[in-house]
Amino acid sequence: MPELPEVETVKTGLQSLIVGHTISSVDILNPGSFMGKKSQIVGSKVVSISRRGKSLNILLDNGMNIYTHLRMTGQLVYRSAEINFAAGHPNDSMVNDLPDRSTRVIIHFGDNSKLFFNDQRKFGWMKVLTNQELVNQPFLLSMGPEPLADGFIAYDFKSTLKNRKKANIKSILLDQKVVAGVGNIYADEVLFATGIHPTRPLSSVSSKDWSRIKNSLIEILNLSISLGGSTDRNYVDAKGQKGSYLQFAKVFRREGQECLVCGNTIKKIRVAGRGTHVCTVCQS
Ligand SMILES: [Zn+2]
Repeated sequence: MPELPEVETVKTGLQSLIVGHTISSVDILNPGSFMGKKSQIVGSKVVSISRRGKSLNILLDNGMNIYTHLRMTGQLVYRSAEINFAAGHPNDSMVNDLPDRSTRVIIHFGDNSKLFFNDQRKFGWMKVLTNQELVNQPFLLSMGPEPLADGFIAYDFKSTLKNRKKANIKSILLDQKVVAGVGNIYADEVLFATGIHPTRPLSSVSSKDWSRIKNSLIEILNLSISLGGSTDRNYVDAKGQKGSYLQFAKVFRREGQECLVCGNTIKKIRVAGRGTHVCTVCQS
């Protein structure tokens, strides 16, 4: 569920909250959620937070990294005496007393503040890696371009995808090897904004279409980030304010409602194994 804007929101929040903090201890409540040894990170100071696609990295001053993926239901919650910051998958754990049943890892800092890694379905993970191990993660090595990085507009998808002409455009946009950080929400929104039906084969997506897809993706991701990322409820940003989940969405989760452009009823169909929202008048 957390896509690029949600993970970007986690990154920005943690940058302002945990950089410079020293890790004093770590509680691993679910061993499958934490790969590495506590001793590799305890006593180290947080240097920076970065994002690549939907993954997040916490760099420490001893050269180790806490490489994190929230997957479907992961969230990070920072608590100190004064601050509650929670981002990622939206649910009650963002505001509950913690730890709760979904807490998998707790990182304690020297000033008694804590970072909780909550993950109901346990698909997410934290991996302790050296810099060398991090750059060699197959997942990162194969990842496509960042939509918000310089040069994305000039990126030529037509040539990199020449062997996948029969694939539908939605499955292409969901593929992290094609473009980093896009999931179900933003794929549906971008295809609606560009008038492209999600089942359209790649062979019928022109260079002009790609140009519109890239521009629209940048615009929608930036809009979502400016609204605090999409989250269901109880979303709390770095300033303790509730976010505005899906306020930007024109098609996602609007099945049965009128299309905001033409008034036709938005339909929900299945494409690339995912629930897909489409206006059959505006998109072809
Ligand atoms: Zn429409």
